[in-house]
Amino acid sequence: MILCLLFSAGQAIAQPAEVLDPGSVVQSFNNARIIIGDGTVVERGSILIRAGIILAVGPASSMNLPAGAVSYDLDGQTVIPALVNTHAHLGWEAYGDWGSQFFTEENLTDHLYRHAYYGVGTIISTGSDKEDIASRVKLEQQKGNIGGARYHLSPGMGSPGGGPNPRFTDDPNYWGVNPVGDPEQAARTVRDLATKGYGIVKIWVDSRDQRRGSEVKLAPEIYSAVLNTASNYDMRIIAHATTLSDHKSLVDVGARRFIHMPYDTEVDDEYLAMVRANNVFIVPTLGMITKRESYYIPAFQDSFFYGQVPVSVLENLNKNYDPPPVNQDAAAVQRSTMLASNLLKLKDHIILGTDAGAVGDFFGYSDHVELALFVRMGMTPMEAVVAATSRAAQAFGLTDVGSLQAGKAADFVILDANPLNDINNTRQISAVYLRGQAVDREGLKTRWVLED
Ligand SMILES: [Zn+2]
Repeated sequence: MILCLLFSAGQAIAQPAEVLDPGSVVQSFNNARIIIGDGTVVERGSILIRAGIILAVGPASSMNLPAGAVSYDLDGQTVIPALVNTHAHLGWEAYGDWGSQFFTEENLTDHLYRHAYYGVGTIISTGSDKEDIASRVKLEQQKGNIGGARYHLSPGMGSPGGGPNPRFTDDPNYWGVNPVGDPEQAARTVRDLATKGYGIVKIWVDSRDQRRGSEVKLAPEIYSAVLNTASNYDMRIIAHATTLSDHKSLVDVGARRFIHMPYDTEVDDEYLAMVRANNVFIVPTLGMITKRESYYIPAFQDSFFYGQVPVSVLENLNKNYDPPPVNQDAAAVQRSTMLASNLLKLKDHIILGTDAGAVGDFFGYSDHVELALFVRMGMTPMEAVVAATSRAAQAFGLTDVGSLQAGKAADFVILDANPLNDINNTRQISAVYLRGQAVDREGLKTRWVLED
């Protein structure tokens, strides 16, 4: 029953697009500030779209509208590309509960809509998706039966006993890690995953849980075999690693994408040179590591979140909340300063990823928290937007999304205020368009709030 509601929610388009033949009618969004996603802006611009694809973007004054085009005046508003989130864990979160038993087609689909509601157009779920269910949802989305954020899933590899945090692996029904104990097995696993059509694969290099033994860290000869074999395929590896020495060793053998920055120490010139020379992409997931900061605002106290969930969820979050200390100790302050310094040194390589769905961060909402943290830690709002759009797409070869240019998908967010003035204005969402169709945000919100 809920599944049917979900599907209809995706098709209930609030805009006139619904009654038009989307295959032929041109829609024109005029007079907006258009943040392209690549670092440039068109003031008083127009976006022309047809059949879910951008036909043209440019100054409104120079745009020729074909006869029969449907126009919308966005005077005073700003358009940004729909966000691209490269690190989350879909399916386990149940808004009030959590676990593998919630990984159903219905819940997974709901999470795609949660992202869409908040303006996230593309989501990569990393190393925790149940393959059969995930594949069905992905296929249904490709057929157009499910809307929401574009769903990409990435299987994982780790040493036997390694993998994600214990919250996942303590679940007796956890899946998602292909254990690889030696280079041959690693190479074989990469080939198998490539044969199955996977273009994104995660590896956990860190030791995550000492209870599972001392050999849980992925050995260099194994990740080397992974990266080597993957280079024969159209496959992008993203490595979970948190120390500077692991990052260097991984870049040395071909790693180009990381989940997490080096957290253990200040990054040095050698590392920065490697990152620049090899165009490395880094997902810092700051939201996850700043929860102990005094400025942290829990979701249940934030109207951008609490309007979208039932009261019971807020009550639970409130009850279980463990507030950060008002005064940080010296070590914590030093660590924050070091993280901000690393982020700024790496700012031209940073991409958006939230880890939402793994550690109590919520889908779509946490993307905006992360954007604000980028800026809080010293990036400009424009740098933050680029990190969350074109660069994130580029990191994974997602050529159809991430920027507002002719030929790309018509995935964009209309804002009532300019995020270049204040990054928190990404929260001033007037409408979200994915595949050229408006997301029924009101319908989704109404259903979520009542879902008790
Ligand atoms: Zn994660």
